[in-house]
Amino acid sequence: MEIVVAAAALVPGLAVGSFLNVVAARVPLKRSVARPGSACPSCEQPIAWYDNIPLVSYAVLRGRCRSCGVRIGLRYPAVELATGVLAAACVLAFGVSAYALLAAFFCAALVAVAATDVEHRIVPNRIVLPAAALVLVGRTALDPSVEWALAALAAGAFLLLAALAHPAGMGMGDVKLALLLGAMLGGTVAVALMLGMLAALLPGIVLLARHGAAARKLKIPFAPFLALGAVIALFAGDRLLGAYLSLF
Ligand SMILES: [Zn+2]
Repeated sequence: MEIVVAAAALVPGLAVGSFLNVVAARVPLKRSVARPGSACPSCEQPIAWYDNIPLVSYAVLRGRCRSCGVRIGLRYPAVELATGVLAAACVLAFGVSAYALLAAFFCAALVAVAATDVEHRIVPNRIVLPAAALVLVGRTALDPSVEWALAALAAGAFLLLAALAHPAGMGMGDVKLALLLGAMLGGTVAVALMLGMLAALLPGIVLLARHGAAARKLKIPFAPFLALGAVIALFAGDRLLGAYLSLF
């Protein structure tokens, strides 16, 4: 039964993903996400509804604009797929519940932030702050405790210290993203931060091997790694924390 509902959640998830592509493209430029409708960034031809169907249109058009043939980034179907799959996973893991809805919203916010950071190298206040506030209110309403607010502040403070110690590696955007993570994850935000930092080490090492000392100047967007850590912590944070603590 749950699998049927989860599959049903995939479709609105894909549609939300499609909207997040618009958000990621426009919000950093301070453009409206409502108007005008989607247009090709190259030839500015408006995109018809039948060319704007999540995943399907990208496959049918083989990743090219119908009118000018310019290549459409893989980011578009990737964001749609990630949002759809995460929405389905939330229903599968947490059942049909208000918590699943909040978790799906949290995942959608993470996808939007990660996509924006990859494309524009910023974590926009206009996405991350309202999302953090909404998640904090939702989480506290569903499970009244100061844990969520405290975890948000602790995670933000931790990344603030990291950003001050190593300004090239992290930005204030990542600090605000940590607020969002803490508000949703509570104590398991520690798992998210740890996994995010570990995951971010890998491309850092690759870049260092390739470019030597010059790699220190290359900026790797950190938000996608934090988002990845947060998703893993959302679904498996308690188990991972338990396994880790049982080592001692
Ligand atoms: Zn075009």
